[in-house]
Amino acid sequence: MATNRTFTMIKPDAVANGHIGAILNDIIAGGFKIIAMKYIQLSKETAGAFYAVHKERPFYGELVDFMTSGPIVAAILEKDNAVEDFRTLIGATDPSKAEAGTIRNKYAKSIDANAIHGSDSDENAAIEGSFFFSHFERF
Ligand code: UDP
Repeated sequence: MATNRTFTMIKPDAVANGHIGAILNDIIAGGFKIIAMKYIQLSKETAGAFYAVHKERPFYGELVDFMTSGPIVAAILEKDNAVEDFRTLIGATDPSKAEAGTIRNKYAKSIDANAIHGSDSDENAAIEGSFFFSHFERF
């Protein structure tokens, strides 16, 4: 059964390009409620741990460098069918393949600097949300 929460990060490219406000507007207009949110700079250690699942993939080192290249916005979001609906809202990993109107289509430039993260399963949404937010920062 789908749970009603997902986890997102507005990535360093979108923050640096001034898209935080527009992306949050799209998220809220998409029917998501912000449960918790923070603006932070990731260390190599934290980004490496978050993306540990991709450790063996060729882009891992560059992904960690990119995710630590500037501040990000991390948030827990709530909506019915949150994980799937959020993946639809953000679009395909490669922005050139993302549908028109999706966040990656509008604000991302490349497959590595792709503006936003969205959890890919309910299980990962819970793991990722609690990686970034302690129990007293979410309800
Ligand atoms: N990524 C990359 N190069 C690739 C594939 C992925 O740099 O060829 C990065 C990209 O930032 C992506 C992240 O690794 O968002 C995680 O990849 P995944 O396949 O899980 O895509 P997502 O779930 O973010 O759409």
